[in-house]
Amino acid sequence: MNVQLKPYTLMFLLIVFQVKYTSGLTLSKGEIDLHCLCEVLDCKKYSIDKPVAILEDKQIIQKLFGLNDKWLNMFNIDSRLMTVCYESLDGDFLRFIVVYDYEYFCSDNEVKEAIIYHELGHITHPVAEKEINHQAEIFCDQNAIFHGYVSGIRKVLFLLSKMAHSLNNPLLIEAAETRTKALEQFKAG
Ligand SMILES: [Zn+2]
Repeated sequence: MNVQLKPYTLMFLLIVFQVKYTSGLTLSKGEIDLHCLCEVLDCKKYSIDKPVAILEDKQIIQKLFGLNDKWLNMFNIDSRLMTVCYESLDGDFLRFIVVYDYEYFCSDNEVKEAIIYHELGHITHPVAEKEINHQAEIFCDQNAIFHGYVSGIRKVLFLLSKMAHSLNNPLLIEAAETRTKALEQFKAG
């Protein structure tokens, strides 16, 4: 596909995909439209002290990444990769996992659980804002693998790699390659 991008647009795309790796994003109950509440994770199943809610909010995600459906299609971006874990300012919830499209998020259970366990991994392996921390990402992948979702993580990394090459973003390509290499080593080890 031959797409002419204005420099500032491309620059923005390079920046926004670093956001995926950041923590320090917060949500309070007041900021949440409760119609978006799709699922509350079972504390026992996920070994968490307080409930984690999954919300669907296209607008929050579009605003955060600066993308819309057209851009997702144009750059082979699977919307499940745009899942963001927010710290909770609400005492009733530990975290909010915000997804772009809940129905699609649930369409492949292996991918869904792998993403959930990866995001929950960030509770013990936080990443500072605007920081890319491969080691933390690898630990979070391993959290999902440990819970039985190795093929889910493999699918996620395949989608990440596809997106990284489509965006031609060296940082993302490196992230996908490093995490895939770690996955193969972890399995072999
Ligand atoms: Zn992560």
